[in-house]
Amino acid sequence: MKRVRPGRMLRLRLLVFVLGFMLLALPVLALDEGVVKGNNVNVRKGPGTNYAAITQVKAGQALYILSTQNNWFQVRLSSGTEGWIRNDLVNRVLKKVRVKGSTVNIRTGPGTNHKVAGKVYTGQVLSVLAEKNGWYKVHIGGIAEAWIAGWYTVDDPSGGSSNAGNAGNTGSNGNVGNAGSGSVTGGTVKITANVLNVRQGPGTNYPLVTKIGLNEQHNVLAQQNGWYKIKVNNQEGWVSGDYVQYTPPANPPAATSPGTPDNSGTSGTSAPDGSAPADAASGSGQTPTAVQITGNYVNIQERADLNAPVVEQANSGDAFVVLDSKNGWYQVRLTNDKIGWVSSEYAQPYSGTLPSRSVQKKEVLIVPIADGKTFKIIDNGGRPELKLEGWTDKQYRFRKTKEEVKMILELDGYSTRKYEGKVERVGITQLKVYPERSKAIVEMDFNFVPAPGIGKTDSNKVTVIPVGMAGTQSRSLVGKTIVLDPGHASVQPGGWPDPGALGSKTKIHEKDVNLAITLKLKTMLEQGGAKVILTHSGQTTLSLAGRAAIANNLNADIFVSIHANYNNKPAIAGHTTYYYAPASKPELYAQRQQREKLASAVQREMVKSCGRKDNGILQANFAVLRETKVPSILVETAYLSNPDEEQLLCQDWFRQKLAEGIFNGIKSYFSN
Ligand SMILES: [Zn+2]
Repeated sequence: MKRVRPGRMLRLRLLVFVLGFMLLALPVLALDEGVVKGNNVNVRKGPGTNYAAITQVKAGQALYILSTQNNWFQVRLSSGTEGWIRNDLVNRVLKKVRVKGSTVNIRTGPGTNHKVAGKVYTGQVLSVLAEKNGWYKVHIGGIAEAWIAGWYTVDDPSGGSSNAGNAGNTGSNGNVGNAGSGSVTGGTVKITANVLNVRQGPGTNYPLVTKIGLNEQHNVLAQQNGWYKIKVNNQEGWVSGDYVQYTPPANPPAATSPGTPDNSGTSGTSAPDGSAPADAASGSGQTPTAVQITGNYVNIQERADLNAPVVEQANSGDAFVVLDSKNGWYQVRLTNDKIGWVSSEYAQPYSGTLPSRSVQKKEVLIVPIADGKTFKIIDNGGRPELKLEGWTDKQYRFRKTKEEVKMILELDGYSTRKYEGKVERVGITQLKVYPERSKAIVEMDFNFVPAPGIGKTDSNKVTVIPVGMAGTQSRSLVGKTIVLDPGHASVQPGGWPDPGALGSKTKIHEKDVNLAITLKLKTMLEQGGAKVILTHSGQTTLSLAGRAAIANNLNADIFVSIHANYNNKPAIAGHTTYYYAPASKPELYAQRQQREKLASAVQREMVKSCGRKDNGILQANFAVLRETKVPSILVETAYLSNPDEEQLLCQDWFRQKLAEGIFNGIKSYFSN
């Protein structure tokens, strides 16, 4: 290195200082803001899938767009991390608006005919992503489709640039009001991630304090850079605004009411705050033998093209055999032997053994109870496992209860923790945690009769208790012959199987949904001791009367046809069960009592298990009900035309719950 005279050095330093000062004093240029569209989107080192992934971002995360190159955006995340994202996976923020009305409804679509999805309040600043018929699609953490009537807003003069100057302050997530980096207190946050990291400071670079779970609510102590400061177990910490739903104080800055947590049932991966980098395939040219899906509702498409029709949707943890790969896409074979393409943005190479029905355990609820002691619920393929961190198998016991669907767990040790929620995807309809003298009590209500297994403790004082379903071996089912009829899939004159209804958005075929539920139901009934015959297992040349004839020829005990419903009005939803026994048909009318009993038992248990709207039982002259000589029902599980239920019907856990409900109904029919 060349020596520089001291005086020259000083002048250089001064020049750098003055230049630096000038840069600071220059008006800050507005940076474009964006919001991530896809789930678990890779942020890469450079503009192409051949660059390594640095981290992943989730749908709804806010970021700044620094530059563009080909089809890629260079972005800066709220953590300060910079990288590249495919531009079709980011919605640009068109402008910012400020809420005018005192309390304004947010809806799931652009019109008052759409469902209310949330509320916003005077002065809140929202990022606008799209405009339709005078309505704005806005970005609100925790709400996927949020629309507000444009006439309840005014354009925010600060636009997208007001926060842009503060380095790293990219967290304006639209529901923080005009947060800037200022510290506004009040309001509450409700956690929308299954598991969320609480950190020592407002950024993913800060150390972890603890973890909290879905639907937990906490008072907000402060806000900064899109992060919220909360208090958990007397420890203060920060959570990312991308994984919470913020409710401002009713009369700012008056005291807040925490309210009660409500519905869960959310599925999702447990990547806590976007800091967990997933190592996606980075164009090494090698095709892995299998891939694992890294997001939920990931589309498997007919061609390697984001606009191609969707064959099916897959969820986090699902693993598939890879047949081919090209341009950042994998061709995969699904478990039902269908073939489709998945973008490598949502799939990573998988080296484990490929399960036939891949089930990955997921933490779906975390309740910190005391220092070093955490109660967790694990989703093990739709079935819960209780994970006690900090207790051995000698430090808990189950208390006897009179209600067979309730389990009460006593955990040794002092606690002040109170929590209330539910975890629908594993069948827990209510969960309460509260202290009682020197114990913490966990009270759980299930939508099935639970049977706790034996807890196993490892060397770290972590005890895992599986929870099975009691009475699967039901005496009432032993020796029964049950014919199950997965609706549709009859081969048509052109040689193609009738798909039944199509999902409005996913175009999923009803016949595939019906078959998936039927196969689960078959397994349960067989485990219960019944003999189960399917009318077909994929497609059939039988007529509807031919399906009924299978049950008639076997003199089966019952015939159950499984369907998914459809209506031109998307708002219509819920469970319905049909039977047929009119007085005009004496041979059917003779079975009226049994047919009606079977229908109402299945309907009742399906509603209990899945919790959608109860449309009751109805009579209908359907061929399979008319032609069966044995008691028969036709189950319309849920609506493929309803956006919520379409998503649910695409998911394995919901199909499992439907099958469990129908199973419980059939069991109940035979046992009394
Ligand atoms: Zn149907």
